[in-house]
Amino acid sequence: MADQDCIFCKIIAREVPAQIIQETEDIVVIKDIAPKAPVHYLIIPKKHIRDLRVLEPCDYNVVSNLLLMAQRLAKDLPQPGAFNLVSNNGREAGQQVHHIHFHFLAGKQFPSL
Ligand code: 5GP
Ligand code: ZN
Repeated sequence: MADQDCIFCKIIAREVPAQIIQETEDIVVIKDIAPKAPVHYLIIPKKHIRDLRVLEPCDYNVVSNLLLMAQRLAKDLPQPGAFNLVSNNGREAGQQVHHIHFHFLAGKQFPSL
């Protein structure tokens, strides 16, 4: 299930260190190593799935749990608990680590799309 060359799988297996913020049965949340905002976490499913393009119906509950985790993290932010959730899918869309993750960003206003 884990990909030997995947940095997030290595973090999940504790083979590579990371600052872990939250952990559940199927998700880990870590601090991004190169933060783009005062709060920049990565919400990562423990299962190695390349990106949302190859997500299968049996994994839909994992993605629901990723969203619920974002809600949980927001509760720990100062009011009003505003945040951005970003998912890059595919190299051409800027994805560098090919293991699904959501960037959870707070404390900085980004230009709106
Ligand atoms: P992507 O561009 O794939 O959407 O985002 C990958 C993110 O993973 C980047 O923001 C990058 O800073 C972060 N990252 C890459 N390698 C590591 C690592 O070894 N540890 C941590 N904590 N973050 C990483
Ligand atoms: Zn992986």
